[in-house]
Amino acid sequence: MISLQDKVAIVTGGSKGIGAAITRELASQGVKVAVNYNSSKESAEALVNEIKANGGDAIAVQADVSYSDQAKNLIEATKEAFGQVDILVNNAGITRDRSFKKLGEEDWKKVIDVNLHSVYNTTSAALTYLQASEGGRIINISSIIGQAGGFGQTNYSAAKAGMLGFTKSLALELARTGVTVNAICPGFIETEMVLAIPEDIREQIVSKIPTRRFGHAEEIARGVVFLCQDGAYITGQQLNINGGLYM
Ligand code: NAP
Repeated sequence: MISLQDKVAIVTGGSKGIGAAITRELASQGVKVAVNYNSSKESAEALVNEIKANGGDAIAVQADVSYSDQAKNLIEATKEAFGQVDILVNNAGITRDRSFKKLGEEDWKKVIDVNLHSVYNTTSAALTYLQASEGGRIINISSIIGQAGGFGQTNYSAAKAGMLGFTKSLALELARTGVTVNAICPGFIETEMVLAIPEDIREQIVSKIPTRRFGHAEEIARGVVFLCQDGAYITGQQLNINGGLYM
């Protein structure tokens, strides 16, 4: 198990939901965190203040990671502030659910850009720094929907499945450099994204989850810390944290 004290992480979409839980969990291990946000400035700044009040270190960095120039600025701002980049968590994501017949090109492209294209943008900008780190980590927050599909989610499912292919291929390419590349596939986790699902549908979903409950964002965050601390021999994998919904 390696110590994460004074490592540097970037968490895209790190100020809310699963991303905020990942930020907090990493900070509690002594990691300095760049909390990326797109529109949620207030929650990013509040989280940075909270981490600093607890004796940690963090910065908030605005960037829409679906644009390569903004993703590059995020990585460079982190390097400038903390001198290194050891951990990249690609967590930023959106849904725009529509049945395929009603899915316009704009909603297709937007979901692919934010969920998948962003992963290319941040990873390519951070790669040199991650390779310079002792034990670089790339962790892609994919989804059970990328594995099992989801009604009305062709765009999201394609993006999340794309992350899994990306993860395995890059893991092969980087294995000898010491940088590991893994994906976490959450099931249904209680965040704004899931609370946006109508209540009757949510009840139906819970009734199908073997553990009969939604997951907590902290349960995903602890998976991230595990992969960072204990994951030197784990690469190209999908860590399913889903209450047994997909096996
Ligand atoms: P959430 O509460 O809606 O948060 C989404 C995060 O993504 C926000 O911090 C948001 O930041 C950020 N984001 C969106 N567009 C962005 C962009 N263009 N550039 C930078 N950041 C952007 O969602 P969540 O449930 O925590 O989901 C986090 C990740 O887990 C997503 O990738 C999601 O697909 C995945 N996931 C979630 C579940 C679930 O059940 N909740 C299940 C499987 C996978 P701003 O608010 O600043 O825009």
